[in-house]
Amino acid sequence: MLKLKNVSKFYYNKGVIASGFSKVNISFDTSEFVVITGESGSGKSTLLNVISGLDSYEEGEMYINGEETSHYRESDFEEYRKKYVSNIFQNFNLVNSYTVYQNVELVLLLNGYKKKEVKKKILELIDKVGLSKYKNTKVSKLSGGQKQRVAIARALAKDTPIIVCDEPTGNLDSKSSKDIIKILKEVSKNKLLIMVTHDYASVEDIATRVIKMHDGKIVSDKKMVEDNNQNMISEITTSDKKIGFLNMIRLGIRNTFNIIPKFILTFIVFLFITVSLLTEYGSLRKSEYESGKLGYNWYFMDTSDTRIIINKKDGSFISEDDFERINKINNVDKIVENDIILDNYLWFESTDNEEYYYFDGILRDIEELSYELDYGRMPESDNEVVLYVYPYDYNFNDRLENAIKETYYLNSDKNSLRVKVVGIVYQDTFVNYDSNMIYGTSGLLDKYMSLVNIEYSERIVNINSKNYPSFVSPGYEFHIAVSDKVSKGKAIVSEGINYTCKDFNCKNKNIEINISNLYYEDSLNLKISNIYNEKTVKSLLGIDKNNSNYGSIFINKEDYNNLFNKESYQASIFVTKVDYVDDVVLELEDLGYRLLEMRKTLSNEGKEVTKVIKIVKLVVTVLLVITLFFISYFVIKLILKSRNVYFSTLRILGSTEKNTKRILDIELFINSTLAYFTYIIFILLVKKDFISINFIKSACEYLSIYDYVLMYIVLVLMSYLISSRFSSKIFKKSAMNSYREEV
Ligand code: ADP
Ligand code: MG
Repeated sequence: MLKLKNVSKFYYNKGVIASGFSKVNISFDTSEFVVITGESGSGKSTLLNVISGLDSYEEGEMYINGEETSHYRESDFEEYRKKYVSNIFQNFNLVNSYTVYQNVELVLLLNGYKKKEVKKKILELIDKVGLSKYKNTKVSKLSGGQKQRVAIARALAKDTPIIVCDEPTGNLDSKSSKDIIKILKEVSKNKLLIMVTHDYASVEDIATRVIKMHDGKIVSDKKMVEDNNQNMISEITTSDKKIGFLNMIRLGIRNTFNIIPKFILTFIVFLFITVSLLTEYGSLRKSEYESGKLGYNWYFMDTSDTRIIINKKDGSFISEDDFERINKINNVDKIVENDIILDNYLWFESTDNEEYYYFDGILRDIEELSYELDYGRMPESDNEVVLYVYPYDYNFNDRLENAIKETYYLNSDKNSLRVKVVGIVYQDTFVNYDSNMIYGTSGLLDKYMSLVNIEYSERIVNINSKNYPSFVSPGYEFHIAVSDKVSKGKAIVSEGINYTCKDFNCKNKNIEINISNLYYEDSLNLKISNIYNEKTVKSLLGIDKNNSNYGSIFINKEDYNNLFNKESYQASIFVTKVDYVDDVVLELEDLGYRLLEMRKTLSNEGKEVTKVIKIVKLVVTVLLVITLFFISYFVIKLILKSRNVYFSTLRILGSTEKNTKRILDIELFINSTLAYFTYIIFILLVKKDFISINFIKSACEYLSIYDYVLMYIVLVLMSYLISSRFSSKIFKKSAMNSYREEV
C-alpha cells in the first residue's frame, strides 16, 4: 500500500546540509500496527513527516497504492494528506480556542461535509474516546491525556487508511499513556497505524511490526505477526469534496470571535484604519470644497457654491406658492427672497459725535443667526441689529462701550436707514475682509430692499402729459420721499416743480410716477395737493429747509410701499451641500424657473495653484493609505502570530492553501466591516446630535454617501491585502516547517 524506495531527506540550513534520513527502503500494508523506535535524532520524525506528505523528500521514490509521488506538487500533497493520512502528534496540535466538539468538527468541515450530517458522527467519536462529558469544553482546559484523546477522535473523524502518530504519549503520564495506546489499538483495525515511541514496552504486545532506526537508517525491521491482508486499500471512503463556502464563513465567524482579546485588538486596528481613512479623506474633500470656493466674479458678493439664483421666465414675481413648492425640494437649505441684499455690502457710519464709528457687512435676516451672542441681546425692533464681526475689530472690541451707544446711518445719510447695535458675535477666526454680517429683523430687510429698488430703478415723472426722467432734473425735484403728512393718493411737491405746469402752478394737477427696473415696471397716479417752499415746508411737512429731502416729491407711506416694497422677483436658493446642487437644479428646471448656478459663474485664476494643491493632497492621502497598510499589517501579523499553528493545523488536517486563506479573508472581512460600521454608527449619532465629538463632526462634514462607500471598499481591500500577505508568508514554508517553528 505504501512503499518507499531509496528515499532520502536532506535539510538545507544556511548552506549546511543535514541528513534527516537516507536511502530508506520499506513498505507498509493495511492493518499493520507499526512501531518505530530509535534514539533521538535518528530520523524517526522526519520519516513520519515524509510519509504524511508534510515534508518533501529529495531522493528516491514513494508509492501510494502503486502511484509514484516524486512529481507531486504542494497541491497534490494537499490532496494526498486529505485522502490518506491522519496525524497525531506529541504536542496534540489542536485548536486550543475551540471546544472538543469544534475540533473534531473542523476536520470534517474542511473535508467538505455538511454541518448537519456530521453531528451524530462527531458525538459518536467523542464518546468512543471517552470525552462525552467534555464535548463543549475548550481544549485549552483539558489535561494532556484528554487532549490526545481529542486528537485521536479527530484523526478518526477524518477516516483515512493511514494514521501516523509521532510520540503520542511523549507528554503523558503512564496511566494516560496506557489508555491512549489502548484506544489507538482499538481504532486502528483495518488501518495502517505507524507510531514512533520511546516507550517500547507499552506497545510490545500490540505491535505487529517493530522498526528500529539509527543515524538516518533502518537498522532492523521485525514482523511480529504474519499478516495476510491484501496490499491495496480496497476502497477510499474519505470524502473527495472540498469545504463548502457556507462552512468557510462559519469557520471565519468562529475564528473572529473565539479569542476575545485577539478580536478586540484586531477590531481596534481596523477601527484605527477606518478613523484615519475617513478623517484624511474628509480633509481632502474639505480642501477640494474650499479651493472651489476661491473663485470670484464681478457681480455677486455671496459666491457660495451652494447658491442658485432663480427668477420666473415670464418676469412675474415669485409667489408664496412658488416658495412653498421650492421648499419641498430635497436638500434645499434655505431660500433668500429678494436676494439682492446678499450681494450688497453695507456701510454704516455714526456722524453724531466727534469720535468716528462705523461698521460694514452683508445684511442678513436675524432668523438665520446660528451663533450664540457674545455680547448684548437680540434685536427687538426694526432699527436694531446684531453684528457678526472680526474679533479684533477696532470699534467693537476696544471701544465697545461707546460704540454700542451710537446711532448709525446707512452711507452716513441721515435720511436713509438708521440703526443701533444691540448685540455682537465675534467670528471664531479671521475668514476674509468681507465676511462681516449685519443681522436685522425682516422689517429692516424690507426697508433696505425698498432703498435698493429705488436706487436701481429708473423713475419717470409725468406731469401735464410730459415726461421728466429723474436724471434731467436740475435739482432734487423728482426725488421721492415719504411723509406722514401726505394722505393716500396725494403728493406734496416743491415750488421748483411749478415750471412744468401752466401758469407756473401745479397745484391740483395730476402727477404720474413711473418706475422701471430690472424686475418690474409700475406707475402711480397722484394728485398734487399742495406746493411747499422754504417758508411753508415746516408747516406743511414738519421738516426744515435744511433737511436733505428738501425739494423731493413727498408721498404717503402706503403709496410708497406699493411702488417700491415689492414681492421677490429674484431669489436665491441655498442647497445643503454642493454635491446636491445638480439634483436641485434639475428639479427647479422641471418647475420652470430660470436659473443661475453661482458656482458656474466663478472665475478662478488660481486654478493652476489649486490643482497642484489637490494633487499634493491626493498624494499625501495615497501615502497615508500605504503607510496605514504596513502599520496595520505588522500589528495584525503580531496579533495573528499565534494563528500560525492554527493555519498549519488546518493544512495538516487536509485543508488546501486556497481554502485556508479564504477562511482568514473572511475573518478579517468580518472584523473590518464591524469596525467600519461601528464608526459609522458613531458618525450618525454625532450628526443627529446625540453625542458631541467635534473631531468626528468636522472630519465628516464634506463626505457624501459615495465617499463612505468608497472608503469601505478601500478598507475591505486593505483587509484582503493584509490577509493575502499574511497567508503567502505562511505558505512559503511547508506545513510542517511553519508548525515546527511555532511549537
Ligand atoms: P528523531 O525524531 O528521531 O528524534 P528527527 O527526525 O527529528 O529525529 O531528526 C533527524 C535528523 O534531522 C537530526 O539530525 C536532526 O538534527 C535533523 N533535522 C530534523 N529537523 C530538521 C530541520 N528542520 N532542519 C535541519 N535539520 C533537521
Ligand atoms: Mg522526533
